[in-house]
Amino acid sequence: MQLQSKLPSVGTTIFTVMSALATEYKAVNLGQGFPDFPMSEELRGLVTEAMKNNFNQYPPMPGWMPLREAIAEKAAFLYQAKINPDTDITITPGGTYAIYSAFTTILQPGDEVIVFEPAYDSYIPNIEINGAKAITINLVYPDYHIDWLAVQQAVTPKTKAIIINSPHNPTGTVIGEEDINQLRKIVAGTNIFIISDEVYEHLIFDNIRHQSILRYPDLLERSFVCFSFGKTYSCTGWKLGYCIAPAALTKEFRKVHQFNCFSCHTPTQVGLSVFLKNKEAYLSLADFIQEKRDYFKQLMQQTRFSLQDSFGSYFICGTYERISDEGDKDFAIRLTKEAGVATIPVSAFYQRGKDDHVLRFCFSKKKETLEAAVEKLSKF
Ligand code: PMP
Ligand code: GLN
Repeated sequence: MQLQSKLPSVGTTIFTVMSALATEYKAVNLGQGFPDFPMSEELRGLVTEAMKNNFNQYPPMPGWMPLREAIAEKAAFLYQAKINPDTDITITPGGTYAIYSAFTTILQPGDEVIVFEPAYDSYIPNIEINGAKAITINLVYPDYHIDWLAVQQAVTPKTKAIIINSPHNPTGTVIGEEDINQLRKIVAGTNIFIISDEVYEHLIFDNIRHQSILRYPDLLERSFVCFSFGKTYSCTGWKLGYCIAPAALTKEFRKVHQFNCFSCHTPTQVGLSVFLKNKEAYLSLADFIQEKRDYFKQLMQQTRFSLQDSFGSYFICGTYERISDEGDKDFAIRLTKEAGVATIPVSAFYQRGKDDHVLRFCFSKKKETLEAAVEKLSKF
């Protein structure tokens, strides 16, 4: 059979590649981002209970209403946002799907989308599969801040959207109020949409305030804001998330969603609708993960890697310049095979493979895992 690829330049994701290599070489896996500690027993119990209580048929297409109501309450509590659970929230099978659906909702062939690189690896293929073009702007190395002048200069009549991600994967940077002001200036009076990837909203450290788009009604009116329960509740395998967007945008988003997966796993939604009311469960996450960041940073001083700062997400980047000058992919593969530690080479997050000799480490791991990894890294 002849098949013309819709994504001819795309291979298997770096997360899959590095996790497979980690398994093959029995390496400690600080590559793909997932926690290796158990999730909340209470939440597991609530979902099990929902199954036992026969919540096992299709929920409404936009999502289980009590869950949408709990999300709206949470958005009001955290961000003073007025979100209508009936018209503005759609439950999705993960954050990635929410982002994909948002792009599919708005993009026409020939449109341009501004993407900051390094970028989470699904964004550009999502854009291209919709016949649109990613206009990439590098975050400024080494602190990875946004060059807003470059953004202003990249805007053309074809610009359909800007995608932002804070806290940021892979760099651990977060946007501040000044970034919001700059963004506001650029989109004011245009038809540019914003897709805001906020899957790490609760993974933000040092008491920094998360600049959710939900805080800013003038930006929210043009935005699709995407979240993931997998990140918030340390259950990445559950693949459940949601998209918040104004009613008119949500109406179109749901047209895409209803013919893709239609609706999501019912028992998980029923369990989460109860668990979401427990504020402590999501508010305590930042301190818990920050402790891991600090512990990992401290341990890494025994190695020849130089870590950058991480203010959010569960990632921290670091250069191996004191060890080698080889390319980051080759180095990451050799590190997995020879040292027994898997990481992610940051060039994988650039369309054209920009290589600053930086690796991404996931520190959302048990203490023993971090210790085992650093012991190996210190000998390399
Ligand atoms: N965006 C970013 C930046 C991520 O790191 C992730 C996690 N893989 C996602 C979106 C998607 O989350 P989910 O697993 O819920 O699809
Ligand atoms: N978000 C996770 C990461 O960045 C994993 C995503 C995936 O495996 N697709 O590592």
